[in-house]
Amino acid sequence: MIDETTQEFALWALATLQFRVEKTSDRYYALYPKEHQRGQFNGAHRVSFTFDEVLKEDKVLEKVTASSTLFRWIQRQIAETGPAMHAAPLRQPVSQHELQPHLLRPFAVEDGSARVVECRLSDRPVLRLSVRSAGEKSPDPVVRHRYFDASGQELSAELLQTLAMEPLAPRVKRSSRLTDQKLQAVIDQACETGGLSQDEVLAAVVIWCKWAEGHITFRIKGMEAQHPFSNWAQVLVRDAKAVEPFHCAEASQSSYRISASDDGRITVVEALDVCQASQRRVLAGELEQCTASGQKMLPEFLQTCPACGEKAYRKSISVCRHTQLECCPRCMPGGHADPYEKLHLAFEHHPRLQQLMESHGPFEGWDSWRVGEGAAVSVFTAQQKRNQLLLVVDNNDSRIRHAATRTPWQRVWTATPVESLPELAAAAESKA
Ligand SMILES: [Zn+2]
Repeated sequence: MIDETTQEFALWALATLQFRVEKTSDRYYALYPKEHQRGQFNGAHRVSFTFDEVLKEDKVLEKVTASSTLFRWIQRQIAETGPAMHAAPLRQPVSQHELQPHLLRPFAVEDGSARVVECRLSDRPVLRLSVRSAGEKSPDPVVRHRYFDASGQELSAELLQTLAMEPLAPRVKRSSRLTDQKLQAVIDQACETGGLSQDEVLAAVVIWCKWAEGHITFRIKGMEAQHPFSNWAQVLVRDAKAVEPFHCAEASQSSYRISASDDGRITVVEALDVCQASQRRVLAGELEQCTASGQKMLPEFLQTCPACGEKAYRKSISVCRHTQLECCPRCMPGGHADPYEKLHLAFEHHPRLQQLMESHGPFEGWDSWRVGEGAAVSVFTAQQKRNQLLLVVDNNDSRIRHAATRTPWQRVWTATPVESLPELAAAAESKA
């Protein structure tokens, strides 16, 4: 059983070290050692090897495994090049042109467009440490790779799968960005986090992978929004969700579906809703609910009902002809404000009545007090001989918001200026 990783590693290393290797049959390869090295192969200018079982009749040096003689020779050639060899994935995106469709693929822009306006590609290193491991299907030891980032942290299996770095391209010029000293520090750190001793490592390879960063511009009806991206180029190509969804800070929502509000803000479709009062498309978070109809609308179309304290659509508000209160439909049963409808006899210790007396009392001569409580206001009525008094009082500061009087045979209350109230009491007193 041929171990593909071991085979790939050996052939790639020989190619990178610039040895001439030929495949001579299904099973066999020929290596041509450099002239000065022929002594190491009994003067042979051509050495046959295989990764398969060696048959008796074959004139083959050896079956290459992770601990065979030829493998160890390759390992020594690698070691002579420095702390690590350099490589790049054979296949990976190398231009903005290749990346562009993949960067835009996850986005759907309503009535607009998306464009990659900037895309910078650079090489970032991934460290591959090759170690000798027991074969699973044969007794021969095999090569296994472990991968680490530039800080020495091991890459996750998921990222490795998406990054798809293997196979490696042969003969990549070493980058001058990493000095041997820095490289050795990364290898040391990787060995530490990977739980490897330096002796176990057969070879270290720096794989230069393309990293892409830049931004996408969404354009809708003359408005623009920028969206940054930054990831491995290969991951951006292979994983549609590697570009982050667009984040609308105002709505605190992210999505791949981009749209704009009617007032010209670029956001995500999920953050938009229609104001039922104006039919304008706005950020859903800015809408409030009309307590009467349940419809959502912008605050400018709502008014707080003094009876229930809830907000209702301005156009649904009506005025109680007794109290002049502007109430929501729910608080106008029978056409009158709810607190007026609810008037009931109030005894002296009623807190609202006490509050009224403390602020404006003593209202001498007035009796048969009734009170109807609302969320923001309370309605009071009282009698004195042939006069009836109605007061609408603010629950918060006890301010009299409206006052009116009538006689028992009048159905309609007549508004009375608040400042004339004491006189009203005095007039009633003198008539008696
Ligand atoms: Zn109400």
